[in-house]
Amino acid sequence: MLTCHKATHLMSARLDRPLPLGKKMSLTFHLMMCKSCHRCDKQLELIHQAGQGWHQKRIEEGLIEPDSNA
Ligand SMILES: [Zn+2]
Repeated sequence: MLTCHKATHLMSARLDRPLPLGKKMSLTFHLMMCKSCHRCDKQLELIHQAGQGWHQKRIEEGLIEPDSNA
């Protein structure tokens, strides 16, 4: 059984590259058992997708400013 700490680590690793099957299964299992990690996973995914899309679009449009936080 994964700890929440490890599960969180796998969640963010998974956003960069696909997990090996064993780890993926462990994570999936943990997410089914653990409501807080499940919620965290959803949020992480949304933030990641939104962040990527937003950043990409601004770069394409040449609108990125070095000191812009919003
Ligand atoms: Zn957990």
